[in-house]
Amino acid sequence: MSQKVRVRFAPSPTGPLHIGGVRTALYNYLFAKKHGGDFILRIEDTDSQRFVPGAEEYIIEAFTWLGLQFDEGTHIGGPYAPYRQSDRKDIYKKYVEILLDKGAAYIAFDTPAELEAKRAEISNFQYDASTRNGMRNSLTLSKEVVDNLIKDGNQYVVRFKIEANQEVVVNDLIRGEVKYNSSVLDDKVLYKSADNLPTYHLANIVDDHLMEITHVIRGEEWLPSAPLHVLLYRAFGWEDTMPQFSHLPLLLKPEGNGKLSKRDGDRLGFPVFPLEWKDPKTGEISSGYRESGYLPEAVINFLALLGWNPGNDQEIMSKDELIQLFSLEKCSKSGAKFDYEKGKWFNHQYIQLSSNAEIANIFYPMLEEKSVDVNIEYVETVVGLVKERVNFVKELWDQSFFFFQSPSSYDEKVVKKRWKEDSPALMSELIDVLKGIEDFSAHNQEEIVKAWIESKNYHLGNIMNAFRLAIVGESKGPHMFDITATIGKEATLSRLEKAIREIKLS
Ligand code: GLU
Repeated sequence: MSQKVRVRFAPSPTGPLHIGGVRTALYNYLFAKKHGGDFILRIEDTDSQRFVPGAEEYIIEAFTWLGLQFDEGTHIGGPYAPYRQSDRKDIYKKYVEILLDKGAAYIAFDTPAELEAKRAEISNFQYDASTRNGMRNSLTLSKEVVDNLIKDGNQYVVRFKIEANQEVVVNDLIRGEVKYNSSVLDDKVLYKSADNLPTYHLANIVDDHLMEITHVIRGEEWLPSAPLHVLLYRAFGWEDTMPQFSHLPLLLKPEGNGKLSKRDGDRLGFPVFPLEWKDPKTGEISSGYRESGYLPEAVINFLALLGWNPGNDQEIMSKDELIQLFSLEKCSKSGAKFDYEKGKWFNHQYIQLSSNAEIANIFYPMLEEKSVDVNIEYVETVVGLVKERVNFVKELWDQSFFFFQSPSSYDEKVVKKRWKEDSPALMSELIDVLKGIEDFSAHNQEEIVKAWIESKNYHLGNIMNAFRLAIVGESKGPHMFDITATIGKEATLSRLEKAIREIKLS
């Protein structure tokens, strides 16, 4: 590629960012970084009706959490600023004028009621080459009438004048050539005098052109807009710098039938937003990947593989590997099933790949909340012993609480099964054996305790089960001697003594 690659992620701030939007942004990012290009955040907020306060900040926070850095954007500026469309009103006005002067667009005064009446009169009414001559617009009214209507404060829109029966080819890197006949398109509204704002279509094209965007990578739902966009480039005379299109496959429900929605997340219990979102109007809270305990690297790896693969069955890939391997040509044309269980699997893998120190740092505040007072090195050791048992950091407590507190009660079922009549006596003997151990490492304890069991001809299982019940309070946990080596000799002995005192035979 001779020209510097420039891609943009162009969300409309209409609410929290859907996970499908995150995947779109990720593919833009991977493509840009692979080609040494720029990744731009442009906020498309020209639809004032749908604007939701806080949505832009949410989007920026989500990408900061994910570690996907923009090179230019509303929050960091850049050489093509401003990056928020509502701050670019004057720019669009000029381009509306250019299209009007060229005769590629016209002014239309039809009121909503008039349009409604037409729809009632003509079935499948479309404002286009076949109908525009019967409407109230600058093609049917004299210049004088048009000027007076505007002067008198009548609202109007500017429509794109699409000629009938032209072939429009959308060249898509994923889908190949997609051909359209222009007659299927209506004369889209490009600008509304009522709010002095362009519509999405005009602002999007003008900005892609001015910001020198080379590749437009976006969701499949925008494919139907692509022929209109191609015609707009033509009308402006910008065909030579038209970006290369790629329309990404849909994210599908886990069952594979239809588009993934927030309702699927609610129904099956998984988040569809990167961060938790509180609806400013209703106060309703939607869960997020961050708050649900996902590591950002796991989310990135998981999303990268929803609609793309490197051509082999490699699944675990760091961000740098993804950048190296990514290509739009390898994106699939068909929808990608949102396999949430796979998402959990990725998180599990990334917890194992993270250092104990990294995971301990995330776990530590949860321990503080429970008023557990230990040093971070201790937490790191515990994490190392139990992390293979969890998919999420928050599950660590359930797998490790006994490293931080002695049992306050003993699981009844386990007591019934594991605490025998001779258990108190055996545990007393075990206390004596343990007292004599200088080097309390797991390995040394194990050797000495097992030798004692063997010499006395005791049953290994009986001893170890009662031992675990005394130390943990239940029958769970990692290797017994790893637990006792970690909590230390003193705590081990006092827990055994407490168990002898407190566990009652039923
Ligand atoms: N503003 C559009 C959106 O909300 C952008 C579509 C595009 O990338 O062209 O997704």
